[in-house]
Amino acid sequence: MAELKLSESRDLTRIERIGAHSHIRGLGLDSSLEPRAVSEGMVGQTAARKAAGVILQMIKDGKIAGRAVLLAGQPGTGKTAIAMGMAKSLGLETPFAMIAGSELFSLEMSKTEALMQAFRKAIGVRIKEENEVIEGEVVEVQIDRPAVAGAASKTGKLTLKTTEMETVYDLGAKMIEALGKEKVSSGDVIAIDKASGKITKLGRSFSRSRDFDATGPQVKFVQCPDGELQKRKEVVHCVTLHEIDVINSRSKMHKREKKKTQGFLALFTGDTGEIRAEVREQIDTKVAEWREEGKAEIVPGVLFIDEVHMLDIECFSFLNRALENEMAPILVVATNRGITAIRGTNYKSPHGIPIDLLDRLLIISTQPYTEDEIRKILDIRCQEEEVEMSDGAKHLLTKIGVETSLRYAIHLITAAALACQKRKAKIVDLEDINRVYHLFLDVKRSTQYLMEYQNQYMF
Ligand code: ATP
Repeated sequence: MAELKLSESRDLTRIERIGAHSHIRGLGLDSSLEPRAVSEGMVGQTAARKAAGVILQMIKDGKIAGRAVLLAGQPGTGKTAIAMGMAKSLGLETPFAMIAGSELFSLEMSKTEALMQAFRKAIGVRIKEENEVIEGEVVEVQIDRPAVAGAASKTGKLTLKTTEMETVYDLGAKMIEALGKEKVSSGDVIAIDKASGKITKLGRSFSRSRDFDATGPQVKFVQCPDGELQKRKEVVHCVTLHEIDVINSRSKMHKREKKKTQGFLALFTGDTGEIRAEVREQIDTKVAEWREEGKAEIVPGVLFIDEVHMLDIECFSFLNRALENEMAPILVVATNRGITAIRGTNYKSPHGIPIDLLDRLLIISTQPYTEDEIRKILDIRCQEEEVEMSDGAKHLLTKIGVETSLRYAIHLITAAALACQKRKAKIVDLEDINRVYHLFLDVKRSTQYLMEYQNQYMF
């Protein structure tokens, strides 16, 4: 039970963290990769955004294999936002996965398994499936008996083999309706516009009339514009390798257990635990087969590892190896540390990252925001959270952001909106900001408080 709770709370934090960046829709660059001042939810941090854009270009040109990106900068300077912006710029289907270095040590699985899962969450697979459906704006039909023109308006029957019954009935209803108005006779080959139901006579053909069931008025599709009755249509699903792993490892469970967590539901039932190496090998082989047959494509995503200085030497050697894999996602790591010890060794190095990995990293630094930039980010967040705020309140919140941190100020938006709701007002005002500022401490005040009252705490 305790374990279940742990995993639940972790999932919640993840949702919350993604939520904090929901306003980021790209890197906000123009076509020549120049950053626009405010665009796609991004404000300022222009040098870092431009560098990230150049890296995206390298990715598109296939020139980044085996390398990774390091975002170095103070907390709250948009490192996560930039990593997410990179994923968004690569396309809607591009998966984005994030994990913090410290999380690796709190999971009830090995560190390398947790890293492996994170990697596979950042690798998308586009699977193409073929489905039989009727497609095309114009369909030719052949009428069996002259009487059909009148009678079919109500009793017409369609003999069609298709899996998309709705499409057929829809189309059939339109045809029958249209047939009632048009003068068409047996053997007429007509075209019907699927959207408007308009019928055009194309000529006559009796060749297939013997296929018709003579028991009643009947309309039969003869040809689609390209000569086929049923056209094959591609349906594309996008999943991550991790999702395939989870579904397959669940399907190997005991039948009774399996029933409980079948299919996609399995993805939402909390912890997946460790996934066995054989399961992954089988999946990799299957995906390789699909790729060869042209049924699947790999969509490398972005894996963001925050607090990378928390990783130890074992994790770093895993990363080095994982980057060599041809399916590897774009690895973006972030830290706010300078020269520090590499965990698991007695050595120190820049950002606590071993030199061999450091050597592969393209380093981008992020800078603290100006007051004006903080104001603009807060504006965007207010819009995103649909919170109306007076100018005075925004001004105060900006000042708080400058004095404390951007993240703290962003958090106050939601809290202040609740305070405003409580006093039955519509627009968040100074008093709401004031109220929540005193309710919730920022790190600086909390530290100060601890120092003043430390003798009253237990050690
Ligand atoms: P940490 O080092 O603590 O992980 P970080 O550098 O990753 O911090 P973020 O989490 O990206 O900082 O930024 C804090 C908040 O501010 C987030 O909600 C983020 O989306 C937003 N934000 C940061 N930079 C920008 C920006 N340039 N434009 C718009 N929003 C931003």
